[in-house]
Amino acid sequence: MKNERLVVVGGSLAGIRAVEAARKSGYAGPITFLGAEEHLPYDRPPLSKAYLDDAEPLVPRFRTERHLRDELDIDLRLGTRATALDPSEKLVHSDGGEVGYHALVIATGAAALSIPGVGELAGVHTLRTLDDAEAIRAGLDAGARTVIVGAGFIGSEVASAARKRGLPVTVLEALPVPLVRSVGEDMGHTCATLHHDNGTDLRCGVKVTALEGTDGHVTGVVLDNGGRIDADLVVIGIGVRPATEWLAGSGLRLHESDGGVVCDSTLNAGFAGVYAAGDLVHWPNPLFDGDDMRLEHWTNAAEQGALASRNALAPDEATPSATVPYFWSDWYGSRIQFVGVPKADEIRVVSEETGDDRFLALYRRGDHIGGTICIDRPTQIMKYRRMIAKRAPWEEALAFAGVA
Ligand code: FAD
Repeated sequence: MKNERLVVVGGSLAGIRAVEAARKSGYAGPITFLGAEEHLPYDRPPLSKAYLDDAEPLVPRFRTERHLRDELDIDLRLGTRATALDPSEKLVHSDGGEVGYHALVIATGAAALSIPGVGELAGVHTLRTLDDAEAIRAGLDAGARTVIVGAGFIGSEVASAARKRGLPVTVLEALPVPLVRSVGEDMGHTCATLHHDNGTDLRCGVKVTALEGTDGHVTGVVLDNGGRIDADLVVIGIGVRPATEWLAGSGLRLHESDGGVVCDSTLNAGFAGVYAAGDLVHWPNPLFDGDDMRLEHWTNAAEQGALASRNALAPDEATPSATVPYFWSDWYGSRIQFVGVPKADEIRVVSEETGDDRFLALYRRGDHIGGTICIDRPTQIMKYRRMIAKRAPWEEALAFAGVA
């Protein structure tokens, strides 16, 4: 075959699962793995959890370099950024030269958004990379008065790490309730109580208009309501944008709202051999009536990385990405878990009905279960995930939860 080679672009979770799945499926041909970061592929969830908390944190690497190069026999190119894609010539261009492929997995993930116009001040960070986590950890170690912009999951985990050290923390959220997009309004209120109960100053319905600094270091945050908060460390957690700039002009369809890669249900991106996986993918999820989805969840990136690689290598046997969204987040020693989608006709807080102090709510979609959120029930959530996957009737989920 001309140019027989699997190329995986993006050296993180979806990318590593893609190369592993290729070898597991028996593919013995050449694999090139490009990653823009100099670091060996590492896992991101610990960066806002154990990495900020532990006295001597370990870098959460997926694999050793020897394993990748020798056991998986991969042409590993770290510190190499893809700059363009030419699907008609089947070429990926990068700052380290061009590479041809017969199968390609695009897994360049997402990059953190910042606040436009806030300028460059020391002590102001987003949290996406190991380098970001190191800088935030140094600020916390120094006892920083901490302000988090955006009450999403990552910002909330950083707030939790700061409170664990007894530091003063303010979390600012522009919307009236945190986490509306992820879990819906009612459950956003429930999660917000964890902040209040643990001494975090959560302020909703406020926007940051400016950051103040002295000698190039942040000193305070100015709000649109006229308020001002002292700060030595500001963490901006207002979301991400798919890292797809390098695909401009490739002919791939990029989503009009966020620039993600638009795929079919098998994660094919519209050209022979070109598949995508992880945080940058829009695809119609067959388990949810073909609804367009783009997820920013670990489990989805892992599953899709493996699937995209298998489908790219055997397109005639391609299978759809039919997944029930799942994510978790750790706040103040509690684990929040969510499966399914927050769009619901009814949300029932069943733990109130059963008198259990560990929170559990079920989301009804039509006459079946469409989602579940729980706090500190780590073993149950996957049972609900399986129920959602098989479109179990609402009554079955209620009965499993112990209510009639
Ligand atoms: P990414 O992890 O973004 O990796 C993409 C890689 O591609 C990056 O290494 C990037 O440098 C590289 N790249 C980008 N552009 C190029 C280019 N042009 N050329 C070459 N390489 C490029 N999810 C959960 O479900 N639960 C959690 O508790 C949770 N916690 C999280 C905590 C943090 C701090 C973060 C940042 C994320 C968390 N997530 C969590 C989300 C989860 O980590 C992501 O869904 C997952 O990392 C997505 O994997 P990915 O491979 O699609 O993308």
